[in-house]
Amino acid sequence: MKLVAEGQPLELTTSLKTPLIEDGEALVKVDYAGVCHTDLHFIEGSYNLGNGRKLATGLQLPVTLGHEIAGKVDDISPSAKVRKGDRVVVYPWIGCGSCRKCLNGMENLCEGRPKFLGVFMDGGYSDYIVVPNARYLVSAEGIDPKQTAPLACSGLTAYSSVVKCDLKPEDLLLIIGAGGLGTMATQIAKKVTRARVAVIDVDEVKLELALELGADSVFNSTKLEERELAKELRAIGSVGRGVDGVIDFVGTPSTSSIGFRVLGKDSRLVLVGLAGGLAEFPLPLFALRGVQVIGNFTGTLNDLVELVELAKKGLITPVVSGVYPLEDANLALDKLRHGEVKGRVMLEP
Ligand SMILES: [Zn+2]
Ligand SMILES: [Zn+2]
Repeated sequence: MKLVAEGQPLELTTSLKTPLIEDGEALVKVDYAGVCHTDLHFIEGSYNLGNGRKLATGLQLPVTLGHEIAGKVDDISPSAKVRKGDRVVVYPWIGCGSCRKCLNGMENLCEGRPKFLGVFMDGGYSDYIVVPNARYLVSAEGIDPKQTAPLACSGLTAYSSVVKCDLKPEDLLLIIGAGGLGTMATQIAKKVTRARVAVIDVDEVKLELALELGADSVFNSTKLEERELAKELRAIGSVGRGVDGVIDFVGTPSTSSIGFRVLGKDSRLVLVGLAGGLAEFPLPLFALRGVQVIGNFTGTLNDLVELVELAKKGLITPVVSGVYPLEDANLALDKLRHGEVKGRVMLEP
């Protein structure tokens, strides 16, 4: 399912040839590909920078979308760590391989020309995918294949965002947005860092799901003014501190505003969501409270390896609420566009 023109539905394209691989590459037969909110931005063609300004996504069309890819190795060099027939999850955030960030294992922040799969190179909304190097395959044997795909983006981003909050057990983490990423972050924060978790969303169904996954308290932001919400959050925060970390998976002026407002001293607001706009923060508070506002984009290959280990131990389980045939990609994207998806939906070739 290819993105052929900005703003248009994806198009089914067919080829009768199964791709052949060259030295070092790997061919993966796709079991499932997760449908990510960022795909909607790729289709739209830009991010909203606020004040009418936009940033182009920079995709070269046509391209096959899909960066949450789980599948079975179909062809690979015999010297690779994973074998033909192994179930794997594909690390899609592949960099140029030669810039400073790539050389330090941070390919997701490549300063050169990144080769992100499903973004700048053909991705997983397809029967097969050619992965440029076998080292980007992470063995996922023992995990339900349906729950493997979301680890590559929503799981990875949630994991690295929680790590960036540097929480101690019993600290209070505020998660804004209880979609695919928020539900993963809730599980990771509860089970891995043993923090307490509060979740904000606008949808009761998603808040209930957050509670089922272990959130300690949930708040519907359509029912509370920002001031009241901040008061309630401070009341459940560590005594005299407020909230110890905030992850904003939405990324609008209003969500970042509440996130900044409740930050306790020496804590971090991690901005992840790409909804867009311009934010205003009172400058003296950065110094007076010693707080940090930082961004986070996906995660490293090493982060994915760590996350897959946690999934193998059963500590985290991505919430998959639906599976659509690959040809129905546009239907799945529409559901996501209208906020009707609980956790993640998958495409199945
Ligand atoms: Zn994604
Ligand atoms: Zn690079």
